[in-house]
Amino acid sequence: MQVLAVTPEIYPLVKTGGLADVTGALPLALKGQGVKMRTLVPGYPIVTGRFKKKKAVLQYEALHGGPASVFIAETGGLDLLVLDAPHLFDRVGGPYGDATGADWPDNWRRFAALSLVGADIAAGAISGYAPDLVHVHDWQAAMTLAYMRYGTAAGVPSVITVHNLAFQGQFGASIFPELGLPLHAMALDGVEYYGGVGFLKAGLQAASAITTVSPTYAQEIRTAEFGMGLNGLLNTRTGDLVGIVNGIDVDTWNPETDKLLAANFSVRAMKGRQANRLVVEERFGLERDNSPLLCVVSRLTWQKGIDILAAIGEAIVESGAKLAVLGSGDRALEGALLAGASRHRGRVGVVIGYDEPLSHQMQGGCDAILIPSRFEPCGLTQLYGLRYGCVPVVARTGGLADTVIDANEAAVAAGVATGFQFKANDGDAFIHAVRRTVAAFAAKPVWTSMQKQGMKADVSWARSGARYVDLYRSLIGKRQA
Ligand code: ADP
Repeated sequence: MQVLAVTPEIYPLVKTGGLADVTGALPLALKGQGVKMRTLVPGYPIVTGRFKKKKAVLQYEALHGGPASVFIAETGGLDLLVLDAPHLFDRVGGPYGDATGADWPDNWRRFAALSLVGADIAAGAISGYAPDLVHVHDWQAAMTLAYMRYGTAAGVPSVITVHNLAFQGQFGASIFPELGLPLHAMALDGVEYYGGVGFLKAGLQAASAITTVSPTYAQEIRTAEFGMGLNGLLNTRTGDLVGIVNGIDVDTWNPETDKLLAANFSVRAMKGRQANRLVVEERFGLERDNSPLLCVVSRLTWQKGIDILAAIGEAIVESGAKLAVLGSGDRALEGALLAGASRHRGRVGVVIGYDEPLSHQMQGGCDAILIPSRFEPCGLTQLYGLRYGCVPVVARTGGLADTVIDANEAAVAAGVATGFQFKANDGDAFIHAVRRTVAAFAAKPVWTSMQKQGMKADVSWARSGARYVDLYRSLIGKRQA
């Protein structure tokens, strides 16, 4: 089975969030299951700079304002199709904006171009390559399905995965004439969205199947509270909407071999955690004592509930725990956390920035990871936490609800608990969960059993990969029927 994936990010080449982890891991997970996945990605400098020999398999004299080509590349087991379009992607800054973080004003054009090329490839533009199915990710790739639907690849089965419904790619109606779609596409059941053009909306409308990254989130997005304006549409497609929990890359995230750790450890020999703990305490300027060390590794945003965290900072310190926060995001939230750290020197430490090695050391050395998200499509940090014996304390929403087993009495008695859940968007519930965590930490046998239970949980891609394969098979089967 040949699957063409289209994505704006892929780990390890370019990553701003969990989406990249998924698009980087899924092709590898599917390899052993009879699926050959090729992934079309934008040629950002960080991507094109990586490959010396560029063999073009597709060329455009003019793609949305400039010449472009697609070359094939291979890295770390990933088969890539790189869209080399310097006028769109060869820029200093991030994938979506300049160095100040401001979005590129022509993002609609950049990702319409990516999508157009995706649809061309789906239609057979690369000689000798005819994908059986197309799998696109998020709004940046979603228009692929619109171009397919209104073009010559209308019959090719397709899947769109929504990693976060908050990002929709909504633009003014004035861009429509430049998209090159037929006039009738500007319709309620086409690309039209609240009077403008909706990229994600268009993809959701055109896809054979819609997946999102956890079963709970798949339910939540059908409600007005989580649906972000798309709940109506999603409710018309419930038969085609499924939630498949993300796995993690269990080779990169393996406490027994992880080179970013100060010391390795395993479920049988946990002693190495101590060395990682010391590194974290040192880096965050925290006191060395035996009180529970809690951490946060996150974008510092409203979605992640970081304002709720800041509001209970005082109470966390009073509970007797120490807190280490790594992240970056909203300036106001960064400021609030830094202020908390200076008020509670030695008990609260904050590092502003993105630091992959430090994130590993925190998972490998802290006792628990706090994840107070208001909504969380899947979430990866709780899965890393499970695998590294860093007990997740999570808001009961989305993938957090699906992957952490709360330490209620019955679960503890049965020895199946792996963490703590609390009501999302509720500071009282959050601090109550922190106090439960501190109490459980003091009851060593219970704590150790929870850690080990989490470390033994299957958080790999094997199971989730198989669910994607089943979905692909059923869609291809329907087409042939
Ligand atoms: P989202 O994609 O919404 O940001 P996820 O939990 O799905 O949330 O994925 C976040 C990813 O980014 C994880 O791999 C996490 O470890 C990583 N991450 C987030 N913030 C930081 C940071 N400041 N430093 C290092 N890694 C981070």
